[in-house]
Amino acid sequence: MNIHEYQGKEVLKKYGVSVPNGKVAYTVEEAVEAAESLSTPVVVVKAQIHAGGRGKAGGVKVAKNIDEVRSFAGEILGKTLITHQTGPEGKLVQRLLIEEGCQIVKEYYIGLVVDRTSGRIVMMASEEGGTEIEEVAETHPEKIFKEIIDPAVGLQTFQARKLAYSIAIPSELVGKTVKFMQALYSAFVDKDCSIAEINPLVVTADGNVMALDAKLNFDSNALFRHKDILELRDLEEEDEKEIEASKYDLSYIALDGNIGCMVNGAGLAMATMDIIKYYGGEPANFLDVGGGATTEKVTEAFKIILSDAKVSGIFVNIFGGIMRCDVIANGVVEAARQLGLTKPLVVRLEGTNVSLGKEILAGSGLNIVPADSMADGARKIVSLVQ
Ligand code: ADP
Ligand code: MG
Repeated sequence: MNIHEYQGKEVLKKYGVSVPNGKVAYTVEEAVEAAESLSTPVVVVKAQIHAGGRGKAGGVKVAKNIDEVRSFAGEILGKTLITHQTGPEGKLVQRLLIEEGCQIVKEYYIGLVVDRTSGRIVMMASEEGGTEIEEVAETHPEKIFKEIIDPAVGLQTFQARKLAYSIAIPSELVGKTVKFMQALYSAFVDKDCSIAEINPLVVTADGNVMALDAKLNFDSNALFRHKDILELRDLEEEDEKEIEASKYDLSYIALDGNIGCMVNGAGLAMATMDIIKYYGGEPANFLDVGGGATTEKVTEAFKIILSDAKVSGIFVNIFGGIMRCDVIANGVVEAARQLGLTKPLVVRLEGTNVSLGKEILAGSGLNIVPADSMADGARKIVSLVQ
């Protein structure tokens, strides 16, 4: 789960990570009030959306007086920001962060991720702050430094110092930087983060080391033990179809293609997406209905797939193990009837009660194209949507 920058900063502050003072604002008036309550003459007006790259897209503005705060807030609120992370449709700005302006001496990058290769949390640091880390990784990989953290002892002081020196933090500020890194690591572990990215971390003219941006991602599987974090969820920022799917305990991820997929099991779902691509099609989603899906769940899954205007055909690919093929077939028929399905539908069933399932489909009178194998099904749906 993702949260907004201002929320991330609130969380980090509790762990002793230094951040500028700031307030969230939902209206221009609130923005002006917030700016007046801050002690610095210069404030920054920042669009709050679940995506980075806001600065370049005009979503971060430095205001030198209250009039400028008013006009920037008016300009950014309600605007659809298109950044390299939002996709071409952009994201509507509904909240602002009004924050004290910092006198930046230099920008750095600090990130924490769960590294799959080492199976550990890794801290990354770079002198190239403010730019996308992916870009630095491509053009100057030698400018990214990494420390693998042993979970038994946590981020060690020597590791943090090593990183701080590698990215050329002024020596008198290394102590503060080490504290910053350790506080960030504590927050990461305590709150079960999957990503914590501070870009930029800055050194200020008055000798502070601060997070000017904060991106925190949380492991959804651990949210049950972080009610405080769950409260920060902003449904407006999430895909409606994904929210609907989570209500029914369906694993659904929206994608850009036009072939809706309904599959059981994450592995089979991945393989289905692969084979659709192999035959020249584009999947519209990843959808795992799970092992014990009921007719109701299958119907809901169908509704979610069909609510996506991009979908021009559906491929149902089910292996009946615990899940029985007749249950799936009933769900498919039920959903197709309820929704008055007119789009091409290819169904491949295999496993427990497969012949019963096939009978139900054949006897339904609906225009369902049966497939004998995964490849057969993929080929059929790809040609039907073309
Ligand atoms: P994004 O990564 O989405 O573009 P950032 O929060 O990183 O947004 O802001 C972009 C840039 O704006 C930063 O790299 C920094 O130079 C500047 N900036 C952001 N917040 C402040 C602030 N409080 N004071 C001064 N400059 C800021
Ligand atoms: Mg940033």
